[in-house]
Amino acid sequence: MKTLNFSIQWHITDRCLNRCKHCYIDTCTNDVSFEQYRYVMDKLRRFEEHHDVIIPGFCITGGDPFCNVDFYKIVEDLSRRGKKVSILGIPERVTTDNMRFLSQNGISCYQVSLDGTQMDHDSIRGDGSYLRTIEAIKTLEQYDIPRTIMFTLGEHNRKDMFQLIKELDKEDVAADFTFDFLVEEGKAKVNCMEMISPECCESIFDEYFQQMQRHQKEKKRLRLRMKSPMMKAYALSKSEDGIGYSTILNRIDGCHCGISSCAILPNGDVYPCRRLPICIGNIYDEDFEEIILDNEFIKRFRRRDSYALCEDCQHFTVCRGCPAISYSFSGNPFGKTPYCFSKKTVPNGDALSKDNGEIDLLLNGVGQLDTVYTRRMISDYIKKNMQRSKENGN
Ligand code: SF4
Ligand code: SF4
Repeated sequence: MKTLNFSIQWHITDRCLNRCKHCYIDTCTNDVSFEQYRYVMDKLRRFEEHHDVIIPGFCITGGDPFCNVDFYKIVEDLSRRGKKVSILGIPERVTTDNMRFLSQNGISCYQVSLDGTQMDHDSIRGDGSYLRTIEAIKTLEQYDIPRTIMFTLGEHNRKDMFQLIKELDKEDVAADFTFDFLVEEGKAKVNCMEMISPECCESIFDEYFQQMQRHQKEKKRLRLRMKSPMMKAYALSKSEDGIGYSTILNRIDGCHCGISSCAILPNGDVYPCRRLPICIGNIYDEDFEEIILDNEFIKRFRRRDSYALCEDCQHFTVCRGCPAISYSFSGNPFGKTPYCFSKKTVPNGDALSKDNGEIDLLLNGVGQLDTVYTRRMISDYIKKNMQRSKENGN
C-alpha cells in the first residue's frame, strides 16, 4: 500500500467555549457522533483498499473539538488505526488530564492561536486568553507534545505580529510559529474585520523571512515556519544563502486544495479547504471517491491550466496562490491572488501539466512536483555557491 500525502481536517463539532471575533463559524449546530465517525471511517477504509493507498493524517478540530463528547473515543480509535493525529484546539483544554491522554495517544501536534500582543489578542479572543495560551504552550512542552502557534493576519493586527514575536522570544517560548491571512468569512465578515491590503504584503513577507533567518542562526526556541504558499514562494525567491532551502525543502507542496487535504464539516459537507466555502459533496451521502476524485470542481485544482494567473509562474509548484483568498476578493478561486508578489513568469513542466488519472495525481503529483522543483533549485544554489567561491578565490 502506498501512503498518500493527504490529510483530512475533520471538524467534529461547531461548538466552542470561546467565540472569537474572526472565527469562520457563525452558527453552532452539529456534532459528529461516534457512529457517524465510524460510518465515515468505513468509507475511507473502502477507498484505501480500492486504490491500495493509505490516508495517513487526520487533523481533529471544531469549534473546540473537546466539546464533542465522543472526542476521546475518536482520538483513541484513530490512534489505534495507526493514523497520525493533530489537534487544532483552544488553550483552555490544555489541562494535565487532557495532555496525559493526548501523550498516550501519540498526538503529533497541538495548535493554539495568538493574534497579537496581550491587549490585541484578548480583544479578539477574550479577557485572559493571551496568558492562558502562554501557559498552555508551557504545559504542552512539559508533556513533550509538539505545538504550533498560529497568527491570523488581518488589517487590525498586522503591525502587531513582529512585536508579538519579540515578546515570545523574551518569554523564551518553545514552539513553532506561523501565520496565515485572515479570510473574510463567518464572524470575521460580521465583525467587519478586514483582510490586509495587498500593498503591505511584500514588506511583511520580507520582514518575516529576515526574522526567520535570524531565529535559525540564533537557535531561538521559537521556530518561525511558513504556512502561506505565497510566503514559501517568496522565501525561495530570496534564499540565496541557502537558509531558506533547509527550512522549506522538507515540505514543498503549495496550496493543499484537491491535492493533499480536504475539510469535513460536522454536517458531513466536504470543502477543498475550510477557508474556501464551496461544498464539493457530503460524506454521509456520497463515497469519498466520488467527492475527492470525481467532483469536477476539485479536479480543477489538479490541472495546471485551471490557474490562469499562476500557470506559467516559476513558483507554481510550491505555491498556486490561495484560492480561499482569491475567492474572498473576487468570487473566483482560480482568479488572481492579491497577495502574490511575483511579477516574473517562467514556464515550468511538471506532473500537473500531464493528463494523469485522478488517483495518480493524488499519489504522484506532489512527489513529482517536489522532485522537479527541488532538483532545479538545488542545482541553481550549488552553481551560485561555486561562482561565489570562485570570485572569493577559494
Ligand atoms: S503567480 Fe501564483 S504561483 Fe506564482 S507566486 Fe503568484 S500566487 Fe504564487
Ligand atoms: S485555499 Fe488557501 S488556506 Fe486553503 S489550502 Fe489553499 S492556500 Fe491554504
